[in-house]
Amino acid sequence: MGRSLSVQVLVVGGGINGAGVARDLALRGVSCALVERRELGSGTSWASSGMIHGGLRYLQRDPEVTLHSCVDSGAIQRIAPHLVFRIPFLMPVFPEDPIGPELVEIGLEMYDRYQPFKNGRPHARLTREQALRLEPALSPRLDCAFTLDEWGVDAARLSAANALDAAERGAALATHSEVVELLREAGSGRVVGARVRDLLSGELLRIDADLTLNATGPWAPRLAALAGAAVRLRPAKGVHLVFERRVSNLAVYARGIDGRDMFTFPHEQNSMAGTTDDDFYGDLDRIDVTEDEVAYVMQAMERSIPSIRRHRVIHTTQGVRPTLYGFGQQEDELSRDYAVIDHARDGAPGFFTIAGGKLAAYRLMAEDACDRLCAALGVREPCRTASTPLPGGDAPLDVRALARRFRIPLAAGVRLGFRHGTRAVRVLAPCDPQPPAGAPPAPRAVCACEPVLDAELAHVARAEGLRTLGDCAFRVRLGVGACQGAGCAAQAAGLLADVLDWPPERSAAELAAFAADRWRAAAPVLGGRHLAAFEIHRHVFLGARGFTL
Ligand SMILES: Cc1cc2nc3c(=O)[nH]c(=O)nc-3n(C[C@H](O)[C@H](O)[C@H](O)COP(=O)(O)OP(=O)(O)OC[C@H]3O[C@@H](n4cnc5c(N)ncnc54)[C@H](O)[C@@H]3O)c2cc1C
Repeated sequence: MGRSLSVQVLVVGGGINGAGVARDLALRGVSCALVERRELGSGTSWASSGMIHGGLRYLQRDPEVTLHSCVDSGAIQRIAPHLVFRIPFLMPVFPEDPIGPELVEIGLEMYDRYQPFKNGRPHARLTREQALRLEPALSPRLDCAFTLDEWGVDAARLSAANALDAAERGAALATHSEVVELLREAGSGRVVGARVRDLLSGELLRIDADLTLNATGPWAPRLAALAGAAVRLRPAKGVHLVFERRVSNLAVYARGIDGRDMFTFPHEQNSMAGTTDDDFYGDLDRIDVTEDEVAYVMQAMERSIPSIRRHRVIHTTQGVRPTLYGFGQQEDELSRDYAVIDHARDGAPGFFTIAGGKLAAYRLMAEDACDRLCAALGVREPCRTASTPLPGGDAPLDVRALARRFRIPLAAGVRLGFRHGTRAVRVLAPCDPQPPAGAPPAPRAVCACEPVLDAELAHVARAEGLRTLGDCAFRVRLGVGACQGAGCAAQAAGLLADVLDWPPERSAAELAAFAADRWRAAAPVLGGRHLAAFEIHRHVFLGARGFTL
């Protein structure tokens, strides 16, 4: 007999939507459990562009979606100011573009009306010379350019922040735990919880719940099928290329050969470029990136930034959008709206699905879903997520003072402040600046690329329930920079082994799995000198430790 647990609501899926719902419920005093099959935010949320924008391209067909996203972007900025960053865009207009500057400007004037909701500035039209001065990487062939103000966020960390806050407020949180069966009441067919398998220990957990919410993103049809219910999506694959460092000062629009808008944008220490948008019929648990996709994105970027191929692409991200079903439209034209479905319609009362939508509107979507769940439970507490700060988002952090006090490099302090806000002090607290005898020494950088400190790794393992080395890529961005884990994974595995009491064979298995993950992420973009450099790195750092590569 496995363990068991009883809650009012079971939320399945620890992406941004499930985590957002769990936090909302916890703030309303509703007991809930959040169950995630892998690491928090590691599915579609991690693969997103991380933009909390209204989406200029949705304005024409879906103004409501643009409005909701902009309003919610404003709320996310309020509750998690540490996790967001401004992304100024340049949109170059070339002589051969089918839409000339006048028409582009009409669209931007419309978008300007939404900017105040997300603290964005109105657009400006720049001459060719002004644009090139601002962004020397731009192609000199341009006629003119427009500015456009957007915001970005670390989507995986935002997911984790929501889930961790829910847990601090009483929610049960289980990662690496998969719902393998939905429990049904005999006769009524009511869904009354689920059986969950811990994928690391193999242990089974029974969760009894008054209501169960399916927040599994593109996996939603699969989970719904366990209750004999239907969720109709039109899943669409999206791929980004991630560059070793920033390839431009500003984000830059690019046009694909098929006329699709794409962009390259600064994201954390890197630049990202993308994204593709293609109907996906494959295995959601094995989303491969093809050479064609890489070539397609590169070709688009090269038109706006001719020097782009001189920059090293270090890995790709890929995911599948849980887009609501639509027929007869191109993928790009499909609505980004969302749905909250009560599966009483399918003979499965007590079971709901939230699907579709955008990262930028996750909080509003969660509010809507929780209103529905609370109405079914008879709970009358209002939503408080628009005004209650996420952990660390309660006040500004003086990063310079933090770096001085704990004797850490300013760059490390900045990244720590970005991920943890005011909680950065708590992360470093065990490293007291005036340590008594025997106290731990000053924090050291484990990964120089990002950078990630040993104190942060110890903190996420001890206080945030991190379970595997692979989780570190999503939770603190370990190994996703230039070294792709070659320079940091072994050290990090050693540190986690100390904190989590792993035997040597577990550390070795974690390290091998991490190296394999990074290889899968990097392989589609490796070739020639880059492949040689990658292999030398891996063999120096991992091969020398006896790993078969
Ligand atoms: C390429 C790309 C770019 C995008 N860019 C943007 C953008 O810039 N801005 C924006 O607003 N939106 C963007 N989006 C959309 C946005 O990423 C999604 O709307 C959002 O992340 C969906 O979150 P989710 O929680 O529904 O799904 P997910 O993040 O996929 O979470 C679902 C989770 O459920 C878990 N799960 C599945 N089955 C089970 C099970 N049986 N038991 C337990 N757990 C399970 C999975 O492991 C997964 O972590 C983009 C999407 C893509 C693909």
